Amino acid sequence: MTDRAGDGVAPQQRLSDWTTLGVGGPADAFVEVADVASLAEALAEAEAHNSRVLVLGGGSNVVVADDGFRGTVVRIAIKGLRLEKQGDGVLAHVSAGEDWCSFVGQCVAEGLAGTECLSGIPGLAGATPVQNVGAYGQEVSDTIVSVTVWDRRDRSALEMTPADCNFGYRTSIFRASSRYVVTRVTFGLQRAQLSMPLRYAELTERLGTKLGSRAGLGETAQAVIELRMSKGMVLGAGGPDSRSAGSFFVNPVLDEGQMSELLRLVPDVPRFAAGRAAGAAAAAGAGTPAPVLCKVPAAWLVERAGFARGYRKGGAAISSRHTLALTVCDGGTADDLLALAREVRDAVREAFGVCLVPEPVLVGAHL
Ligand SMILES: Cc1cc2nc3c(=O)[nH]c(=O)nc-3n(C[C@H](O)[C@H](O)[C@H](O)COP(=O)(O)OP(=O)(O)OC[C@H]3O[C@@H](n4cnc5c(N)ncnc54)[C@H](O)[C@@H]3O)c2cc1C
Repeated sequence: MTDRAGDGVAPQQRLSDWTTLGVGGPADAFVEVADVASLAEALAEAEAHNSRVLVLGGGSNVVVADDGFRGTVVRIAIKGLRLEKQGDGVLAHVSAGEDWCSFVGQCVAEGLAGTECLSGIPGLAGATPVQNVGAYGQEVSDTIVSVTVWDRRDRSALEMTPADCNFGYRTSIFRASSRYVVTRVTFGLQRAQLSMPLRYAELTERLGTKLGSRAGLGETAQAVIELRMSKGMVLGAGGPDSRSAGSFFVNPVLDEGQMSELLRLVPDVPRFAAGRAAGAAAAAGAGTPAPVLCKVPAAWLVERAGFARGYRKGGAAISSRHTLALTVCDGGTADDLLALAREVRDAVREAFGVCLVPEPVLVGAHL
């Protein structure tokens, strides 16, 4: 392999080329796997050499440190899509290395409802269960029927149910543990020319319809893409906002005590019901209701803490179209991005006592 940059690093191992942020130093080793047997082999080989492993999809939700990754990157390139009729619906078995946007586009074209609001999200299908990818009122956990994984501990393939996956808001068992590598995801989709009932006000407004109603499948997907483009949340649009990992912070979910403290400081803070705390009822004893949770838009907190779109610090900036997307400017580094993220996080904590948590996975880096 030619070393065009002249730094002695094989081009494949330069992780900046594999991440949408365009930053990240080299990996010690890099292997691309096109089937489950090669995946198992690559993992066994890394283990035999005591090498840490980073499983990589499209690199759209990772921040890799400028120093790179001391270990083996295993990039998932397992392809395949099979549609299986099941009752009135269809099971879509999609391999982990398939491009997510193309998969959603194909579902919409085939008249299969269930993923249309997730149009335009970058990355590969296998990563979608990891943070329970969601947008515009849909999450992959709404339609996932099973997730097939390679279990690194038991060295065997395993099919996991949605309950096994422990899905939550931007999280799952896969985010919490590196034991499983997703090799295939099975979605249960409805055969319909209409979307699933719409649950996101901004989208229904754009479609000129009401919450809970359904709109044309293609029309819904198109409206989602247009909304995403207006916020710079579609890759490939070019321009200064294009080098991002999407939203950099997760919307904080607060319990009643935290929420009333926040309301005392900012009575006009927007908030949305986010269910009840999992496990809290059991901890409190039978019959005791679990605390009610509220989700607060992180973008609102960031703006109120004094950050405007386009704010730049060194080689990183807040997107000019979306306050929550942090971007890397020409010549910027992962350190620049992390410094900006720290500044934003600290300002929000100081102003409101709320600690923002990063959405992308930090590799060799920390805030
Ligand atoms: C412009 C933009 C907009 C975005 N909008 C959204 C959005 O609306 N909603 C949303 O939820 N996300 C959004 N994202 C984040 C991102 O696209 C998703 O999280 C996506 O699913 C990541 O896929 P990937 O293949 O790029 O994963 P990667 O970035 O390669 O990996 C992310 C994490 O998943 C792990 N992983 C990847 N593949 C596997 C696998 N097969 N098995 C086990 N672990 C694996 C990695 O180790 C890493 O920890 C956006 C990102 C960008 C850049």
